[in-house]
Amino acid sequence: MSPATSKAGVLDRSIASLKGIGPAKAELLAKELMIFSLGDLVYSYPFRYVDRTQFHQIIDILPDQGNVQIKGKLVTMVTKGENRKKRLVGRLRDESGAALELVWFRGVNYLDRTYKIGEEYVVYGKVEEFNGKLSITHPEMELANRAVTEEAATFEPVYASTDKLNKRGLDTRGRRKLIRAVLDQLSPTDMPDMLPPYLLEELRLVSHYDAVRAIHLPADQAELEAARRRLKFEELFLLQMRLLQLKVSREARVAGYAFGQIGDYFNTFFQDHLPFTLTGAQKRVLREIRQDLGRGIQMNRLLQGDVGSGKTMVGLMSMLMALDNGFQACMMAPTEILAHQHYESIQEYLKETDVRVAFLSGNVKGRARRELLEDLAEGRIHILLGTHALIEPPVVFKNLGLAIIDEQHRFGVKQRAKLWKKNTPYPPHVLVMTATPIPRTLAMTAYGDLDVSVIDELPPGRTPIKTVHLTEHRRERVFGRIREEIAKGRQAYVVYPLIEENEKLDLLALEAAYDEMLDRFPRPDYQISVVHGKMKPEDKDFEMARFKNGETHIMMATTVIEVGVNVPNATIMVIVHTERFGLSQLHQLRGRVGRGAQESFCILLSSVKLSKESRQRIKTMVDTTDGFKIAEADLRLRGPGMIDGTQQSGVLQMRIADLAQDGRILSVARDRAKDILEQDPQLQRPEHRMLSRYLDHHLKAVKGWSLIS
Ligand code: ADP
Ligand code: MG
Repeated sequence: MSPATSKAGVLDRSIASLKGIGPAKAELLAKELMIFSLGDLVYSYPFRYVDRTQFHQIIDILPDQGNVQIKGKLVTMVTKGENRKKRLVGRLRDESGAALELVWFRGVNYLDRTYKIGEEYVVYGKVEEFNGKLSITHPEMELANRAVTEEAATFEPVYASTDKLNKRGLDTRGRRKLIRAVLDQLSPTDMPDMLPPYLLEELRLVSHYDAVRAIHLPADQAELEAARRRLKFEELFLLQMRLLQLKVSREARVAGYAFGQIGDYFNTFFQDHLPFTLTGAQKRVLREIRQDLGRGIQMNRLLQGDVGSGKTMVGLMSMLMALDNGFQACMMAPTEILAHQHYESIQEYLKETDVRVAFLSGNVKGRARRELLEDLAEGRIHILLGTHALIEPPVVFKNLGLAIIDEQHRFGVKQRAKLWKKNTPYPPHVLVMTATPIPRTLAMTAYGDLDVSVIDELPPGRTPIKTVHLTEHRRERVFGRIREEIAKGRQAYVVYPLIEENEKLDLLALEAAYDEMLDRFPRPDYQISVVHGKMKPEDKDFEMARFKNGETHIMMATTVIEVGVNVPNATIMVIVHTERFGLSQLHQLRGRVGRGAQESFCILLSSVKLSKESRQRIKTMVDTTDGFKIAEADLRLRGPGMIDGTQQSGVLQMRIADLAQDGRILSVARDRAKDILEQDPQLQRPEHRMLSRYLDHHLKAVKGWSLIS
């Protein structure tokens, strides 16, 4: 699918129409790279460029130099070794007087005949050092006089390829020939600009046609940069246009209850029962929610806020808005423990009001359950808290106006459908809360068609968690720190990784670690809880409860404690094998401490030898506790596809834009898209005709993007 808007034009032609591409090669390109048409070829951009303006002198080359380009004479060419060790070794000497080796393991006979001793060649490849000798294995190599005349471009594109393609001559060099052939057939009318002319002018962007040409065959660095900027903007802008259009059309489709008033429940609570002053961010988000609920359009809002930022209170006060308008509300959490925690804290907040709160999970059975369901159906229960049992068919509300879902990433499509059916004629408003901060650029794309609220401020008076990194042989010291905390009456978490592919080994390791801990922290002075993913939920809950009630001092656990568990008396967390955890996981884990008034500690244990990425991850954890900063770092380290909460989204696969780097361009793109849709919602103005055509043509591709509802 090509971004061109022209009717069946050149770009739609099959690649088999190109000279030199027979059915076999065409099939291979389709299979390996999804390239079917000339358009596909044109819109598969190079992923890097070789700077052919620079030649290295062999005498200056260092062993770890990476890729180099040299010009020199081939002085010898010898076949060495037998059978599988057979290789062709050439020596290239340049004007610096020094020489290096060129080595080929494949195509030995053919290449021996092709390359001529005494000729001057331009050679490109990665330098390596063997036994003190510099060499390049399988270099790109071209006669110097041909290289100059045929390849006038100074930056050569390098394309994604595969072994199979390379073998059929469709390596990066072959691709360059193809792309030249295609570009020669194209004129600007084949690739009209979809961006309105005034935008090009204001933002100083080159035309679509020029940019596409230059991205493949840039004359120089400046041209390449201009092409990149244009194509990145185009990609992000078009995406934002689609997302915003999607949002507008969804809002037009789905009506909702208008919560027109703020009444006694909310106001009384706000004036008399609020146990603290709301943070500025909490107030702002409540205003956003209130506005949204008043519009008569079904709300679909994502609330992002770091661990401990006070999302529960925002949820509660939103539910009070529903009550003020005569509706019921509910809040769901992914686990029984979490749901019950919500129940306890919300009951506490509301104890002096006449709001009736109830709790439901699979464990509420028999008569209690029957009565609860009856009260709910009659409207005698105002707020229902619980697990996903809340949305099972037998649970009937009198009139559910707002449903809150805590920790969104466990809420699937089926469950959403059930939720929507909970009420007629309109579905309840939905607020999804997540403590997994998503970088702004990602949120704008993965959730670009939804409303997103962000709590970017923690309540005052938190003592920041002190984080240190230690290597494993300092374990004894760490045990000492744990003992100190326990002596002060506090509790400790010790967290172990559990990675699915070697679950068994990990469990064994956990058992061994448990024995070690029993040695270091003997009964009866110390009590240890163990919780891991292979336990039955009841057993897990039992152990968690013991720790929560202070009956045990140490909680040894795998990542099951990640989400939402609140034990304010736990002041120290030790993470074992830190290098095996992802950044966002580490951040979530660390959020289990620092929840009380006491100073808290997080000790990241790792082995001595660490990869560069692990080192950076750990450094990020030590340097900051800001979830958004951590998420940004995660995005830079791992790329957008890997960030929690966005995996289901297909929009993150981009041709050229990079969400880790192009945040500025993205902001501009989103702002401009918004402006345009505000001024010309149907894109009827002549200057938006091409844009409108393009978007109509491509809107099909984005169905199913919205993660919520
Ligand atoms: P999360 O966003 O992780 O769900 P919680 O809602 O559990 O966070 O809040 C964490 C703690 O902060 C709770 O003990 C809550 O009572 C407290 N809290 C929330 N908002 C404020 C505030 N504005 N001022 C002081 N404490 C607050
Ligand atoms: Mg929470």
